[in-house]
Amino acid sequence: MSKSAAQDGAFSITAGTAIETILSLTSIDRLDVRILLMHALSLSRAQLITQSHRALTDTEAQQVSRLFQRRIAGEPIAYIVGEREFYGLPLHVTPDVLIPRPDTELLVELALEKLPVHGSLLDMGTGSGAIAIAVAHSRADANVTALDQSSAALAIARGNAERHDVKVRFIQSDWYSALSNECFNVIAANPPYIPEHDIHLTQGDLRFEPISALTDHADGLTALNTIADGAARHLAPGGWLLMEHGYNQASSVRSLLAARGFNDVRSWSDLAGIERVTGGRISSIVQACT
Ligand code: GLN
Repeated sequence: MSKSAAQDGAFSITAGTAIETILSLTSIDRLDVRILLMHALSLSRAQLITQSHRALTDTEAQQVSRLFQRRIAGEPIAYIVGEREFYGLPLHVTPDVLIPRPDTELLVELALEKLPVHGSLLDMGTGSGAIAIAVAHSRADANVTALDQSSAALAIARGNAERHDVKVRFIQSDWYSALSNECFNVIAANPPYIPEHDIHLTQGDLRFEPISALTDHADGLTALNTIADGAARHLAPGGWLLMEHGYNQASSVRSLLAARGFNDVRSWSDLAGIERVTGGRISSIVQACT
């Protein structure tokens, strides 16, 4: 019978002991430890459990150690593993795109609710493609367009659309600038809305995310205003504009929509009970799309 590494006097680490050691030495939570180990060892969730007693090879131990060092340095899990699930769909993410948040699923639900059969939707500042791809995946009848200023983001979004086999038209555009006089039934956006000096920009995952996707380098309302400004030229009669915003911006966004003649202006709360999305319908007085 062969002797185990421990009997030989060598120190051996298994996937199981690695989990417990990392949990005791760092503040990384159990779920994240598992996700990183699955990634480092190329194991599924089930394999990680069934192989928890197998000793790691030196190469595997080094790979595990490298990934945990990146996490300890603050790098987001989603960037380390290159993936984040949104609306049930795993999406590829890199530091060129914002990491999709569960809060934004509210925006998808509202967009789906407002989108008529065979309707058209425009996702402004699509990043990883999360909103556009989630809508197109749920509604094969929809005509989905997504734009972003960043060619790196568009490459990722295109790959994600291909991976989930959905049809989305991608356009490189600085907000509405590359669109002619097209009209959409729904315009949805999760724009950069964090004010320049907000403390959150210096904390957690946000430190690693593309700054232009997070802040307008001003009061946080610049992009929300720009999107509302152009909506009259790009919303079909009765069309909805839906925008995600910061935890304390709902009343400002309602005001900016009301000031531009939108009807049925209201906000919706996310799962944490925070007003997270505000929207309104274009009124026939300002609506200019035919
Ligand atoms: N929801 C992100 C956050 O607060 C910000 C996203 C954005 O600016 N659009 O972490």
